[in-house]
Amino acid sequence: METNPTTDPLDPIRKEIDEADRQLIQILARRFEAVKKVASVKQAEADQPLLDTERERRVQASWIQDAEALGLSAPFARRVLKEILNHSRRMQEGLIENRQGPGRRVRCGYQGQPGSYSALAASHLLAHRSTGESGLVGYGTFQEVGKALLNGDVDYGLLPVENSIGGSIADVNRLICDHALHIVDEEVWQVEHVLAVPPGTEMADLRVIRSHPAALTQCETFLSSLEDVRREPWSDTATAAESLRSGPARERSDTGAICSEEAANLHGLDVLARSLADRECNETRFLLLARQPEPPDPRLPCKTSMLFRVNHHEGALVRALNVFADARVNLTRIESRPQPDMPWEYLFFVDVEGHVDSPALAGALRNLRSCCSHLRMLGSYPSRTRKQDGHLDLAPAAIPAVPAVPSEPSCIRELPPMAAPEPRNDRRRSTIRIGPVILGEGHFVLISGPCAVESLEQIVDAARMVRAQGATMLRGGAFKPRTSPHAFQGLGAEGLVYLQEAGRQFELPTVTEVLTIEDIPAVLAHADVLQVGARNMHNFALLKELGKVNKPVILKRGMSATIKEFLLAAEYLLNGGNLQVILCERGIRTFETSTRATLDLSAVPVLKRLTHLPIIVDPSHAAGDRELVVPLALAAAAAGADGLIVEAHPRPQEALCDKEQALNPDDLALMTAGLRPIVAAQGRIW
Ligand code: PEP
Ligand code: MN
Repeated sequence: METNPTTDPLDPIRKEIDEADRQLIQILARRFEAVKKVASVKQAEADQPLLDTERERRVQASWIQDAEALGLSAPFARRVLKEILNHSRRMQEGLIENRQGPGRRVRCGYQGQPGSYSALAASHLLAHRSTGESGLVGYGTFQEVGKALLNGDVDYGLLPVENSIGGSIADVNRLICDHALHIVDEEVWQVEHVLAVPPGTEMADLRVIRSHPAALTQCETFLSSLEDVRREPWSDTATAAESLRSGPARERSDTGAICSEEAANLHGLDVLARSLADRECNETRFLLLARQPEPPDPRLPCKTSMLFRVNHHEGALVRALNVFADARVNLTRIESRPQPDMPWEYLFFVDVEGHVDSPALAGALRNLRSCCSHLRMLGSYPSRTRKQDGHLDLAPAAIPAVPAVPSEPSCIRELPPMAAPEPRNDRRRSTIRIGPVILGEGHFVLISGPCAVESLEQIVDAARMVRAQGATMLRGGAFKPRTSPHAFQGLGAEGLVYLQEAGRQFELPTVTEVLTIEDIPAVLAHADVLQVGARNMHNFALLKELGKVNKPVILKRGMSATIKEFLLAAEYLLNGGNLQVILCERGIRTFETSTRATLDLSAVPVLKRLTHLPIIVDPSHAAGDRELVVPLALAAAAAGADGLIVEAHPRPQEALCDKEQALNPDDLALMTAGLRPIVAAQGRIW
């Protein structure tokens, strides 16, 4: 038989390989078609779990068994399957959450350029959130990605937050802390470095290898095996690859780059070596950020991220973490971030397993609020990290598919309508530390001072007087909410300075009212506690802004607010992240006209039953009459109020504001003499 001299003996074998590849792709496509059918069943039946962990385990076990029987390595088979299962899961999520409706096009920012690991991860992730070509936009820095997202130039931003070898990426954590961004997904990307060179270059020609410094470090063993090769740090892996095609001609023959296989292809480079990293596992975890939260289907195994700050006292962090342990919620990451404006105080960045609406996590978060001074939820998102043993994270037990929007304030304890109150010792109550003063369980705080700051001399005299009578904090209004526009409106910014000076001289933390959003920065700069007056309890825009501040807020009950409305107003502050909320009962409007307002003392025990927040009482504005203030103050202490805020003036007859209710030095002495035995009998510290 005549043989064709040009026939390469490899040809038929290659044909076999090509045929196997074609079949592989067809089989994969068939598998994903079946996955789509599963998704439509799960979408129609809300009680179907989205992830059947047991089934995935069985699939994995038989896959590995079959692979080994055919002589394939188990780790290799496991890795291929992991990719397939990840892809299937994302496909199902996209279909179930209708993320792939026709024509859905989203833009996602990342740091770097095409071919970088960020770009690869972003395009993988977006394929499941959009149809058609998604818009990927590369930026120079993490900050620029954040800015583009906040400005609305992109819908999402994908940023690397930690690497399994290099650890956490501080700039990205800082970006998340500093801006109102939400985490909506995560991606764990297997980093696979290759050595890319201009076509024709051989290993022996190489004198320089350039890449991002982290990549160079990750390939230490490989690099030190090469003789006479200099390492050259470069801004990122993909740019290092690009530079080989655009740099000076000299570099093209003796320089290589460590980058992704995709970057090498993109720039027409040859790949001389693969799998360069010292460790086989080199994974980067990325977070997908958005301007709005996108809570996932609660049937998925999820993670929830949050930021909190604890009160600055011993054991505070342990108590906060115990809340998760008690609820059997698993912590997957904790990191601390310094706060530049508060040296040596830290924000904790925590990821836990579970959906924010799952009963265990929701319960833990309610308790967490009573031991933190600030808590910001960053988002719940599907978990993509898998435990080392190759098992998947456990899916949560079936819980309702659509999380209900809470109509009850979540600072309210969970009490069925007719249930007996929980035993007292089971309740966690917040304590708030204000300089040397502790407000909350086991303590009694007396806040006193004039209705308004009138002059430096007046407020200094007032501070001296209230301090001598046992007050531990100083009040004084600089911005006054007066019923009549003709009445004294307060000294404004000047008053803040005088109040601060008086507080400083007598070592009394200060409380003053903030009337508008614009005044917040000035009040924050001068006072220790911000007060929201009764007339502003419904000013939700103001409350939302105060939810972001890092100082305690006294929230006064609106004159016609029910307790539920009062707590919902407090919820605005808590939801914004500010957990240092002090409730203040100051009298409500009733048909009774013999007092300025009717002091609702039952609010004290009722609120104590309903919430962990501290409750103080203002007998001055309730009574409107000096003579009535003292008995009401004693009654409030007896009812269990955590403190009192009482108006007092060194010369009440000269007061520019609320003179009828201002206590003089003698009244103050009388009041504190009556209060001491009550507080002592309760075993509280004053
Ligand atoms: C005040 O405390 O100065 C004040 C104006 O109180 P309220 O908002 O309760 O009327
Ligand atoms: Mn007043």
